[in-house]
Formats: sequence, C-alpha cells, structure tokens
Amino acid sequence: MTTKQEWIEKDLKYVWHPDTQHKQYEGKDFKPTIIEKGEGIYLYDIDGNKYIDGVSSWWVNTLGHSNPKLNKVLTQQAEKIEHVLLADFTHKPAIELAEKLVKLAGEPFSKVFYSDDGSTAVEVAIKMAYQYWYQKGKPEKKHFVSMTDSYHGDTLGSVSVGGIDIYKEIFKPLVFETLKVCAPYCYRCPKNCKQNECNIDCIKDVELLFEKRHNEIAAIIVEPLVQGAAGMRVYPKEYLTRLRALCDKFDILLIDDEVAMAFGRTGKYFAFEHANIKPDIFCVAKGITAGYIPLAATITTDKIYNEFYDDFSKLKTFYHGHSFTGNPVACAIAVENLKIMEEENIIENLQPKIEFFKNEIQKLKDLKHVGDVRHIGMIGAVELVKDKLTKEPYPFEQRIGHQVFKTAMELGAILRPIGNVIYFMPPLIINEIELEKLLKIAYDSIKSVTE
Ligand SMILES: *Cc1c(COP(=O)(O)O)cnc(C)c1O
Repeated sequence: MTTKQEWIEKDLKYVWHPDTQHKQYEGKDFKPTIIEKGEGIYLYDIDGNKYIDGVSSWWVNTLGHSNPKLNKVLTQQAEKIEHVLLADFTHKPAIELAEKLVKLAGEPFSKVFYSDDGSTAVEVAIKMAYQYWYQKGKPEKKHFVSMTDSYHGDTLGSVSVGGIDIYKEIFKPLVFETLKVCAPYCYRCPKNCKQNECNIDCIKDVELLFEKRHNEIAAIIVEPLVQGAAGMRVYPKEYLTRLRALCDKFDILLIDDEVAMAFGRTGKYFAFEHANIKPDIFCVAKGITAGYIPLAATITTDKIYNEFYDDFSKLKTFYHGHSFTGNPVACAIAVENLKIMEEENIIENLQPKIEFFKNEIQKLKDLKHVGDVRHIGMIGAVELVKDKLTKEPYPFEQRIGHQVFKTAMELGAILRPIGNVIYFMPPLIINEIELEKLLKIAYDSIKSVTE
C-alpha cells in the first residue's frame, strides 16, 4: 500500500502545481493536502480530517461537493453520450442549457457560445468584439479598455486585458497593449474619496478616455461589482450603471466578465442585475456546472451575432472552437444545476443568509490588523494591514495571509488567501451555523497570527 508520505513524495516529484513556488515545500512540515472525499461544504483529507471549503475550491463550487443529484446526471449523461463535436452536430444538453441561459439573462440576450473555462470565455469575448467592429466596417475600433488590478484569466489574451502585475509583468512582451483605467478600490480610493460617501468620481477616468479615443475603442471589459483576484474588492453598483451609460454614449461594447460572480455568488444569478444593466457580451464559467467540471459560455445579443451572419463566401464566420466545446456531460450538469437552483429556490433562500453574513463579518473589524471588511452576497473579505491607522500593508514576503491559511487549516477550514486578503466564498448551500463557524475560525486564526 502506498503511504501518505509516498503519495506526497510522488506528487512533488511529478505534479507542477498552479500558482505555486515549490521550494516552499522543501524540508518543511507544510505540504500539499491530499483530499480524498467531499460532501456538501466539507472536504476530507487522507487522514480523515474535515475542512469547511471556505473558498469553494477556487470559487467554483456552489451546491456542495459530490452532490447526489449532480452525480446522477453525470453518470446518466456519460452512459448516453460523453462527447461529440459541436460543429454540424448538436445535442440536447447544449440546446437546453443555451435556452436556459438566454432566458435567465433576459432580453436582449439571444446567443450562447460555449468554451471550456473562464479564460477561454474571455478570449471568445475579446475576439467576438474585435471581429464585430471589423465586420461592421470600423476596423479602427480595435483597442480594449480594462481596469487596473483586473483579472480575466491566464491565457495571453485574457492576461492582456488583465492588470495584476504578478500574472502579467514577465509576459509583457507577449501580450497586446490595452488602455487602462483606474479601478474603483474603495478602501484605498484612487481619488481619495471617503468610503460610502462618494459620487463615483473614479468613473471620470473612463469618461475622459472614452471622449478622447472612442473611435479606436472596441470594448471595455470589467469584473462586475467585485474585483476578485485583486482581493475581493467590492465596488458600488452605481459604477456599473454609469459605465453602461458611457458605453452607450460613445458606442463602445461592454464586456462583463461574470466568470466568478454569476450563479448566486452576489445574491443574484448575474451580478449585472444589481446595477440594472445589460452588457453587450458576458462570460460565465466557474459556477455554471456548480463547480463540477469545466464549462464556460460567452453570451451575447443579436446585435453582435448579426454582424457574423452572411454568405459563407463573405468570410464572416467566427472561426473559433475548442475540442470540447459544449461537452454533453458538462452541459447536462449545468442544466441540472440551474434546475436545482430554480426548484430549491436557492437564490431566494440566500437572502437571510446574506444578511446574517453581512452582520457577522463585521466582528472581524475588531481585530487589530484587520484594515478593511468587504462584503457582497455570499462573498466576504478582510484586508490585513500592518497598521490600521495608516493602512500600511504587510510586506508580501511575510506571507501573512498564508500564515493565517495554515492556522485555519489546523482549525478545520480552508481559507486560502489572496496575498494579505483573507476571503470567504463558501458554497451557497452553507448554513448559518457553519458560516458562523467559518468566520470564527478566521477570527481566531487572524488573531493568533497577527497579535
Ligand atoms: C477565474 C476567473 C477567470 C478565469 O477563469 P479560469 O476558469 O480560471 O480560466 C476569468 N475571469 C474572472 C473574473 C475570474 O475570476
């Protein structure tokens, strides 16, 4: 029998982990945790230790691990047809899912383009927007605007519109140029406004840029309401409303990257609903299969689609497709996910839990090194600072967030941080008692590491 020690040795010998400096495992007690089982909000390691999945296994899980209903659909669909190409062929799960997504998103959405993950959904959106203007006879509208500290994926196109240095700096010679506007970051406001007392002055940057260069701009891409990878930076919905108006005024497409936020995270199906707007193109992935297997979609309107619709010889086809586009097993799970959400009133039932979360998370503010507390829907975050008064951050080499993560693991919760930000993004099915426990573990871990 292979022992735990041997599994870990083999892991470190053969597996190159994502976003990971492997030298950290050298000679230390700290090693990757081997997870063997999942059930509901809990993950179990090889020794049988149980953890609350506080980050939904990288923001994907919504209805709990190893969900019996989803398991059943997975096996049933695999027994019928596990995969088939989606060009000149189709299948019921892809059709059903597309119809459901279009209806959920409402007018004017009409078309669903499938791909594999968040990054590819963003690539599709970028190429779609570019080709749209090209075929509309405005090839000069070819530039993309995105926000500082934005994150849209790890492929080169999505890195191009991204704005976080650690993902981008080295690859600068490989990515295309984009125009950057200052992101709304209320705790450290770029315009020095007081939190919750501003007129969204930061949007003026967008307005100025649009005024000057709208003739060359194809689209702006944003993470709606929360800049996730930047550290769950929640920003006011009015920003999005105003952005929509500016896009209309200057004839610029609004690409809404809902990859992390869709399917209940913010308390609604889609984050754009909070702002009462509709983007021109939006991307979904992570939660679409309730976190089961990869699937993504880029959803748009007839306004965009019609520019691609013409005789074959006109060469207006959207030449983009991945091997696993619209995989039947993935689509069937996504359909079941949406059915469960509807039948079990998941969104409606979230509302009291969200209120509870919003109040409970405030308790973390009492801690000496918690600078900011952020919350929206089923997402919460605290930014740890060396000095609360001056907001001086901890030096990144200190890995203060990672220390908190390690302590929280010992206490039974997975709170893998983003730098100095500890965040909570549990599966939507977590109950109030468990949520309280998760926050308590965070409180104790932060206190023990920072005080
Ligand atoms: C995670 C994420 C992506 C990338 O998705 P992958 O599935 O990891 O490729 C894109 N955009 C946003 C906003 C994300 O949070």
